[in-house]
Order: sequence, then C-alpha cells, then structure tokens
Amino acid sequence: MRIFTVGPVEMFERTLDVRSKQLPYFRTDEFSEVMLEIQTRLFRVLKTKESSKCAIITGSGSAAMEAVVSNSFDKQDKLLVINGGSFGHRFVQLCEIYQIPFDEVKLNYDETLTQEHLDAYQNNEYSAMLVNIHETSTGQLYDIKMLSAFCKAKGMKLVVDAISSFLSDPFHMDDDGVDCVIISSQKALSLAPGLSMVVMNESFYLDNVKDKPIINLYLSLNEHIKNMERGQTPNTPAVGICFEVLDMLRYVEEKGVDTIIEETHAKAIRFREMIKPLDLSVPAFTLSNTLTPIVFENGKARIVYEYLRDKYDIFVTPSGGDLATKIIRVGHIGNMKDEYYDDLVEKMKEVL
Ligand SMILES: *Cc1c(COP(=O)(O)O)cnc(C)c1O
Repeated sequence: MRIFTVGPVEMFERTLDVRSKQLPYFRTDEFSEVMLEIQTRLFRVLKTKESSKCAIITGSGSAAMEAVVSNSFDKQDKLLVINGGSFGHRFVQLCEIYQIPFDEVKLNYDETLTQEHLDAYQNNEYSAMLVNIHETSTGQLYDIKMLSAFCKAKGMKLVVDAISSFLSDPFHMDDDGVDCVIISSQKALSLAPGLSMVVMNESFYLDNVKDKPIINLYLSLNEHIKNMERGQTPNTPAVGICFEVLDMLRYVEEKGVDTIIEETHAKAIRFREMIKPLDLSVPAFTLSNTLTPIVFENGKARIVYEYLRDKYDIFVTPSGGDLATKIIRVGHIGNMKDEYYDDLVEKMKEVL
C-alpha cells in the first residue's frame, strides 16, 4: 500500500521505532519533562514568545478547533469566518452549535480569496477572524499577511487553523500577528492521528480564555493550560503520540524547519511539473506545499481514484460532496520519495 493522502501520511522510520515501545505511566516528573520539552520546542518552531500558552489535547484536529471556538468566544462576540471549503464550513458549524454570532466569507471551490472579499466587511465590528490558513479541501493557501493586516487594522484577534500548513508552508506566529494557532499530529508532523495542539499568545489567553465560565470539561482550554504549567494534562493523554511528537520536534529542529519546508516545496513543484503534459488542470490560486489538487474538468476524478486504489493499492486523497468527481489531491507530506511520484504519474497515465 502507498498513501498520497494528507493525514495519516507515510511515517518515518524513527516514528515507527518510537511507536513500538511500551508506554510508561504518565503522572510522573519524567513525563512532565516530555510535555514541557514539547511546549518549548513548539514555541520555537511556531516562532512565538515563551509567554505563550499551550494546550495539548487528545483528539483529532477538530477537537482543538472546537476547544478554541467554544472556550474563547460567546454570544457577546461576533466572528468573521473564512469559509472556502469543508474545513471553513467546520468553523461555521461550531459557531452555529455554540451560538456565536458570525459572518462568513464564502468562496467557490476555484475562487481566490482577495482583499475585495475582506473589504466588504470593513465597516462591521468583529472580535476575531477564524481561518484555515490552508483550506485542505481545495488546496488554497490564503495570504496570511493580507488577513493579518485586516485584523490588525480592525483590532480583531486572528485564530488560525494551521493543521495542514504547519511544517509545509512558512509560518511565523508572532510576526504574522496570529493570536491563536491550531495544529495536529497526523499532517506534516507525520505521526499517528489523535493529538492536537493549541498555542495562544498571552493576550489571547488573558482576553479570551482565562476568565470565561466553563463551557465544557474535556475540551476546557483553561483546564489544559492550568495543567500544562506543570507539564500535565487534565485527562489521560495519548501518551504514545506525545513521545512521537517530542521525537519529531527534535528531528525538525535538528534538521531546520526551513529545510523541511524547502524539501516539501521541491516535491510539490516537481510533481506539478510532471503532470503538466497530462492535460489536467491545477487551480489558479496560491497552493500550499502540502498537496496538489488536480481538477478533472471531465468529471473523472473518482474513476482515477478508484483505479489506483483497486488495481495498485495506491491511495490519493479523494474529495467529498460536490467535488468528488472533480478533484483528487496528492499529498507531499510525510516520508515521500521522488520515485513514489514517478510511479504514481505512470499509473495515472494508464487510466487517463
Ligand atoms: C485535517 C484538518 C483538520 C482536522 O481534521 P480531523 O479530521 O479532525 O483530523 C482541521 N483543519 C484542517 C485545515 C485540516 O486539514
């Protein structure tokens, strides 16, 4: 089996080694050290100050999205949500469920987010913007500088779901004016699914989280942050994935975040060049290095997906809903080698 999906992804040998070990009990000083080292390294990799706060939540990325929306905002707030696909829609659903007033900037699957979209909301008051900086369902990477300037000018907080962009595209939490960022284990970290992390700057914590009445227990950010002061979590964490995260962050820092991003970029560019002769199209908007969306104007995306799966046990990322017949996505994160793409392109040629 070969997976070109964007989570889970092909894991590195070192992660498979870490995963094969017996798990220890976790209410110990030794385990607290592990968690605190994860926090320190995460702050460095995300490029944020040590005064920031970190919550390590056992749950997939959506759990962290839910923790942030439900614990940071309420009926008194109004949010501006960038809804460019199924992950933007998830933020919309969370606002609806928790009854937080919001406006949404809704995009078609092939529509580029521009300053004009934002200008339409210029005169309204908002407490914050929610955005998936890489909308994984379409492959669009939004312009963080544009979003950040808009939020700064209007005194809005900026909440970024960077789950499918972290370690693939350049990201500077503090310099880019991001107040709260969400990441998760199974995308470019290339680990098992099940652990997600929320990092917020001190002012976001003080203004939006600290004094809020408790709204939920398992996802309570205050409980997580309070426990994290001593390197612990309120409940049993996914202990094994914590060890995977620590190992991967050590590797990332040793190798250099920029180097990792450049390598992923090179894989994405190489693949995009390879498919040019195939008469397929790629959207015009800015793409993340995480994946390449391939658009089938002839509606044959699903057929290609099924052919690769059934004949070769190769999994590209299919799309859901209206896009199922239109788009497949090919990931560039995880332990991917050039020859995997050479092979994939050969097999795509067969079915095309
Ligand atoms: C993968 C992903 C998530 C998390 O989805 P889960 O299914 O909960 O893991 C959230 N946002 C984005 C942009 C993603 O790519």
